Amino acid sequence: MKPILISACLLGVSCRYDGLSKPIDENVIRALQKRYHLIPICPEVMGGLPTPRIPAEVGCDRRVKRSDGIDVTENYKKGAMEALRLARLFGCDTAILKERSPSCGKGRIYDGTFTKTLTDADGITADLLRKNGICVVGESEIEKLLSST
Ligand code: SF4
Repeated sequence: MKPILISACLLGVSCRYDGLSKPIDENVIRALQKRYHLIPICPEVMGGLPTPRIPAEVGCDRRVKRSDGIDVTENYKKGAMEALRLARLFGCDTAILKERSPSCGKGRIYDGTFTKTLTDADGITADLLRKNGICVVGESEIEKLLSST
């Protein structure tokens, strides 16, 4: 079965900054499991951050700062490297990642002002994976992924 990375919070793991998860529909998880070997990742936890944690956003300078101003870029970069390492170890060419996250978000993330403003950019992990040839799919694109495979 084809291996695929997936954001752990989409599978119901309570690893988000607020200590909660964002699970996708159970039937969708089952449909994914029929086709893929799911490898859960949480780059923020893998980068050494606790749960729950103070929320962080990526600024236009690509530094990641918590809402209290503390710079956590190195944690985010470490988590991204660990995700890439796992992708290579398991031979994944695709990752299903949580949209709008400063780590996992693909294409649109919050802009670093903590005003719920979205901007066109990738999260730190989505960016690293894409630059290394891994196709990143957001949760809103899972149906399309399932119908194309
Ligand atoms: Fe979910 Fe990714 Fe945030 Fe972890 S880093 S909680 S997997 S969105």
